Amino acid sequence: MKDWTEKGRTLIWHPFTQMKEWEKENPTIIVEGKGVYLTDLDGKKYLDGVSSIWVNLHGHRNKKIDRALIRQIRKLSHSTLFGLSHLPAIKLAEKLIKIAPKGLAKVFYSDDGSTAVEVAVKIAFGFWQHRGKATRKKTKFISFSNAYHGDTVGSVSLGGIDLFHQAYRPLLFQTIKAPAPTRKRSGLDEIEKVMKRRHKEIAGLVIEPMVQAAAGILISPPGYLKEIRRLCSRYEILMIADEVATGFGRTGKMFACEHEGVTPDLMAISKGITGGYLPLAATLTTQEIYDAFLGEYSEFKTFFHGHSYTGNPLGCAAAIANLEIFEEEKVLRKLQPKIAFVEEALRPWKEWPHVGDIRQAGFMIGIELVADKQKRTPYPLEMRVGGQVCKETKAHGVLLRPLGNVIVLMPPLSIAIRDLKKLISVTGAAIQTVTERLKVSPSAKDYGAPFDWNRS
Ligand code: PMP
Repeated sequence: MKDWTEKGRTLIWHPFTQMKEWEKENPTIIVEGKGVYLTDLDGKKYLDGVSSIWVNLHGHRNKKIDRALIRQIRKLSHSTLFGLSHLPAIKLAEKLIKIAPKGLAKVFYSDDGSTAVEVAVKIAFGFWQHRGKATRKKTKFISFSNAYHGDTVGSVSLGGIDLFHQAYRPLLFQTIKAPAPTRKRSGLDEIEKVMKRRHKEIAGLVIEPMVQAAAGILISPPGYLKEIRRLCSRYEILMIADEVATGFGRTGKMFACEHEGVTPDLMAISKGITGGYLPLAATLTTQEIYDAFLGEYSEFKTFFHGHSYTGNPLGCAAAIANLEIFEEEKVLRKLQPKIAFVEEALRPWKEWPHVGDIRQAGFMIGIELVADKQKRTPYPLEMRVGGQVCKETKAHGVLLRPLGNVIVLMPPLSIAIRDLKKLISVTGAAIQTVTERLKVSPSAKDYGAPFDWNRS
């Protein structure tokens, strides 16, 4: 056991993790999952309050997904989509098109959320190039302040969170930054002005529909997405919806675009696609976009993009099982009372002295903690308030991961009310403990480094 702890401390370079602090702590090594619980090497059980980074939907070791994978593994674990096809990829594409916003007709597979977005950007770029001379200057993209689309160089270029993205600036391609909507102003006039003036050079607009997730669960006002759709259509700009975080039921509907009856021109999906089992992603497009790539062989309009494991059959089999569960178990219908339960349970928290805001879109919940409620002064990031709260919940058997000062709750959709109650009560107690403690001594260093299950 000791040996694993030591190796767990030193062998792996962990994502978004302060490795200097990691190396000082005993890492939690997860060995098993069942339903909404994870168990570590010491046998301690934790409620998975963020769905293993927003991917798990129907619980760990879900019987139906397990069985589908075992069936598939007995037939074929991998075969390429370069010049060949396979049944799981075809069956899944059919299912995805059926549930996607109407008008999306083709599925391009890849492996993760960042790549699904990059693929969308490259397709949008290629579309205008192939369309002919008149549109070849359409090479730029609009992206939003606070946006997060992944960590590859292309998707970082579209990002707008300085803490994560600023360090890479010299490596990135330039985008036209649109203001994300705030409570006070939508910024739509400004966006329209830019589109009106520059549409001849703009290929696409990339948006996280309804929720800017990594920015701290920032929710756009009703009607906003529809307006963005209208503007994109009006100025002939392709609308790219990044549904990586919001897709597969997270916001209470299968896709966030559905809340406003919007069909984007391209849609990137990943995370929940396999129910949280395997890396798989897809970029869905309209027939019109696909058709632009149908040149003669000698024209080389081929979409030159592909990964070795693109559309992996095991991933596709898990994804098919995931979608069958949605149907058979009426997941979205059963989710509604749970969403309402959370809303009701968190309502009184709005009065708590250090809760600045509570934002909820379905099963995406952000609780923003502030140093001064009246003035809405944030806690300095160095205090790692989010990290301290999550360290506290962890001690009480609930795994969370904050976004700065925002405590994020994003449990599997399958969570029972009993476990939701636990998630909420442990989180509430942790917020109270930490904010009280900070009142007495508002200095982060007094508490030492929190265990690095947090991003701060
Ligand atoms: N887009 C959005 C909206 C995301 O939230 C994320 C990841 N949190 C990504 C893209 C990147 O997905 P992945 O981590 O699978 O590359």
